[in-house]
Amino acid sequence: PQFRGPRPRAHIRDIPAYVPGKPPTPRPGLTAYKLSSNENPYPPLPGVVEASTRAVEVMNRYPDMGSVALYEALGRHLGVPVDHLAAGTGSVALIYQLLQAFCEPGDEVVYAWRSFEAYPIAVTAAGARSVQVPLRADGHHDLEAMAAAITERTRVVMVCTPNNPTGPAVTQAELDRFLAAVPAHVVAVVDEAYLEFVRMPDAVDGLATYRAHPNVVLFRTFSKAYGLAGFRVGYAVAQPEVAGALRAVSLPFGVSSVAQAAALASLEASEALLERVDALVAERDRVGAALREAGWDVPDAQGNFVWFALGDRSAEFAAACDDAGIVVRPFAGEGCRVTVGEVEANDRLVEVARAFAPA
Ligand code: PMP
Repeated sequence: PQFRGPRPRAHIRDIPAYVPGKPPTPRPGLTAYKLSSNENPYPPLPGVVEASTRAVEVMNRYPDMGSVALYEALGRHLGVPVDHLAAGTGSVALIYQLLQAFCEPGDEVVYAWRSFEAYPIAVTAAGARSVQVPLRADGHHDLEAMAAAITERTRVVMVCTPNNPTGPAVTQAELDRFLAAVPAHVVAVVDEAYLEFVRMPDAVDGLATYRAHPNVVLFRTFSKAYGLAGFRVGYAVAQPEVAGALRAVSLPFGVSSVAQAAALASLEASEALLERVDALVAERDRVGAALREAGWDVPDAQGNFVWFALGDRSAEFAAACDDAGIVVRPFAGEGCRVTVGEVEANDRLVEVARAFAPA
């Protein structure tokens, strides 16, 4: 029988699809690499596997709903009080929660475009309206234009630094100037998903910014530098009023016991994990230099990915990469984002890019 119940609310039908990074096409005799989701190529550390395995043994029990141990460890790690923290099912869940908590129907959310593709999905799902401000031609945020786009209906502005998928990071001076123009009725999100990969000396200092600006909310994740994408755990740092609202609308038990255990063990292993980040950053910079040498004008990459502004040649480039056993993330008509992965995978990318003449 056919469903004849109520229709989903009107805006639900407008939610754009999230296109996940494709898995690699298996090719005989060729190791295939997935460079399409900005994942960490390193397998988990043994200590992290052990801690998660211990949590698996009690999977008949619900997790600690308050993630108490994780909040305490994060509080110590960051030097912030625990009531300034909210953990979520990946930082993407916290984006949804923030919009749900702060946006009335029709309220506006200002962010750069192109940026993280979950933003328009989350904004639409919350019944709010996206105000997308084009990036500059070099893939940087146009913060002046973003400030000018704020109206009385704006509830949230989101700054993604480094920006996914283009790569450049915002400087502290740029962010300070922007925040000075953000009125008190607006929450300012700084999405720092790729924070640990930033090597620009004048880049945003998120924690100092949150301390200086009560409207600022930081979003961070264990998915990228900490390599826990499969476990879904992220966190927000904000004033207690905001952090409390994020926790209030969270899915009960949304951070699994396994995820909590892995996140805790990863925090303890920060030093070893950040050494791997150093290696990935070195690879990123090596790839960037090789691409520039080959004539590619790639934007400054501060995350674990590089951006090729290929326009309508994006699908062709993605197909050439696929043939070489690396799967990348094309954005139709715009460009391709390629995650920095294993050395061999990065070498193949450089090879494909050399053969594929820049525009
Ligand atoms: N913010 C940005 C900019 C991202 O690129 C991502 C992941 N692709 C996220 C947030 C969400 O990460 P997660 O939900 O895995 O924490």
